[in-house]
Amino acid sequence: MVALGVALMKWSEFSHWGEKAARWASNYHANLRNLPVRPKSNPGDILNALPVSPPETAQAMDAIFDDFENLIMPGMTHWQHPRFFAYFPANAAPVSVFAEFLVSSVAAQCMLWQTSPAATELETRVIDWMRQAIGLPSEFSGVIQDSASSATLCAVLTMREKALEWRGNKSGLAGDKALRIYASREVHSSIDRAIWISGIGEDNLVRIESSGPQRAMTPAALEAAITKDLAAGLTPAGIIACIGGTSAGASDDLVAINAIAKKHHLFLHVDAAWAGSAMICPEYRELWKGVEDADSVVFNPHKWLGAQFDCSTHFIKDPADLVRTLAIQPEYLKTHGQDGIINYSEWSVPLGRRFRALKLWFLIRGHGLEGLREMIRNHVNWSHDLAKRLEQEDGFEIVTQPYLSLFTFRYLPENCSDPDTLNLNLINAINDDGRIYLTQTIIDGKRVIRFQAGAFTMEKADCDTAFDVIVELAKTMKV
Ligand code: PLP
Repeated sequence: MVALGVALMKWSEFSHWGEKAARWASNYHANLRNLPVRPKSNPGDILNALPVSPPETAQAMDAIFDDFENLIMPGMTHWQHPRFFAYFPANAAPVSVFAEFLVSSVAAQCMLWQTSPAATELETRVIDWMRQAIGLPSEFSGVIQDSASSATLCAVLTMREKALEWRGNKSGLAGDKALRIYASREVHSSIDRAIWISGIGEDNLVRIESSGPQRAMTPAALEAAITKDLAAGLTPAGIIACIGGTSAGASDDLVAINAIAKKHHLFLHVDAAWAGSAMICPEYRELWKGVEDADSVVFNPHKWLGAQFDCSTHFIKDPADLVRTLAIQPEYLKTHGQDGIINYSEWSVPLGRRFRALKLWFLIRGHGLEGLREMIRNHVNWSHDLAKRLEQEDGFEIVTQPYLSLFTFRYLPENCSDPDTLNLNLINAINDDGRIYLTQTIIDGKRVIRFQAGAFTMEKADCDTAFDVIVELAKTMKV
């Protein structure tokens, strides 16, 4: 039963609410700069303000909208804030938000070609635009996955099946020699998860030491680990390299790693989830030299580039191997008489697929590659400038030099007896202050503070504010 006087939202009223939402979004973004980046919220504040039981009758849209503004928004971290310098960005350019609005309105399931031919064919086109934009050779095909975690899982499953000569899906892993996958300690935790989920097991993720300023996997150590495993009767299956690791931008030497992969016939997957966006600028491609010889590469336009989450572009040399690993065709999914068409659900783990290509199409057209390059170059330059300024400031140490727009630092004034606690206190003070938002990491056993410039609407002045806030609050710390 609907309560008297309460109207359910109908499509005929949608334009009213759609206009309201659009106005709200414009105002929100116009004001964002004045809000603290992180909410001043205590655990349980929002939960306790929400009714314990669901409503039995429809409620008025005005009331729902008011609650959204008054209960929910005060508890949101503002990821689109121009002074969001934490983690990595999750940029949502207005043009991609607009495309998502259209996608949500059409709400198609784009799992097979025939369930929305335009979605499949646009995906084929824009993924190839993206391939050209980042300078990968034409032997790569691609698919848009929901996340880099999913792309890496798909790559690991493909490594597993290839190494088991396609027996794994049918017979499982029991009875086979242990498969071994190689990666440095700098890779993202999504790699560990892919190894768990694929049944390969954490003990078979062989961690290769890294060294040098790039914290790159040591090729000789990789070669030695593979040789040792072969001698022990184990089955090397693949290598996962990282370009722009999450902690401090660690990047492997893809030329050297590739040579080892080819020698041992191993599948090579490259995780460039964040740094891949920068490869639209030809001058940064040196950082992933050798990528053209990898079997699989992932990067997230939903991080730095501005495609509303979720949008992860996954490039594969031989999609037939991926499809052989994942395709499953019960009668109800067969597209009879349509041989040769692409069904992208056979390239990924979930069957259902959102229409993710549309926002990428709008984004690339709406900004042009040159517009996106300018943003990335600015971020890289501003981050380098900030690192230089901090380095010259008394008591500050740059722990890892900028890699693109990411660097790490710590405050180490004279007579400091416990730098880890001091830096933890400093980052807490910075984040409670609210003008900027940073996150921390551990480098070689030391607690350090990460800085990355990447917010879509960031300006040079925001970097200057970051400098002022960091130095001002550092001076208030008890050493
Ligand atoms: N790889 C790297 C290097 C990352 O930094 C991240 C997330 O920050 C991921 C993978 C996981 O990305 P996603 O959230 O798209 O799964």
